[in-house]
Amino acid sequence: MRLILLGPPGVGKGTQAKILVDQLAIPQLSTGDILRSAIAAKTPMGLAAKEVMDRGDLVSDEIVNGIVSERIDQADCANGFILDGFPRTVAQADALGTMLTHKGMTLDAVIEITADAGTLVSRVANRAKETGGARADDNVEVVRKRLEVYRELTEPLVAYYRGKGTLKTVDGMAPVEEVTAAIRRAIGR
Ligand code: AMP
Repeated sequence: MRLILLGPPGVGKGTQAKILVDQLAIPQLSTGDILRSAIAAKTPMGLAAKEVMDRGDLVSDEIVNGIVSERIDQADCANGFILDGFPRTVAQADALGTMLTHKGMTLDAVIEITADAGTLVSRVANRAKETGGARADDNVEVVRKRLEVYRELTEPLVAYYRGKGTLKTVDGMAPVEEVTAAIRRAIGR
């Protein structure tokens, strides 16, 4: 099962991905998590990404495409994976399509998780409080910027995948377990 979770920051992609990892026994592939680890480890890639991430902009397609291509070659992805936070631009989606074709893989579904903008800002603000500001990009100003970037660069992927017939939409305003159940119904698992 190869899945994409698509949706704005704070909609619950990471939460759902972590639940589905256990239920479907496939790994979560979060480009945001991988980039944050690279920042913590002060690798050249992390150092290059930090400033861009801190202001809520997107890291280059080249960097994230490379991360994903390497990651899905690893043994634990043999039975599938859940992409969380990738692709985020049409160029990334095209790159993913090409990369999967080269690896002889296909995508099973793209799950769009929806929520209204006000809820997203307050959810991310709460996440900042709960984690004691562990994420430098979880403050209201940067969250608004990330939402703007989402609307401009990532939302077009909804139409992109709808056009390919792989898109399913679930309501991210429902309680966590209901969202999980809706995703599982959508993918027939
Ligand atoms: P996330 O944890 O998915 O919210 O990502 C946090 C930040 O990492 C984003 O605001 C971007 O700066 C960067 N990032 C994560 N995934 C991508 C991606 N697919 N393309 C570009 N930047 C990304």
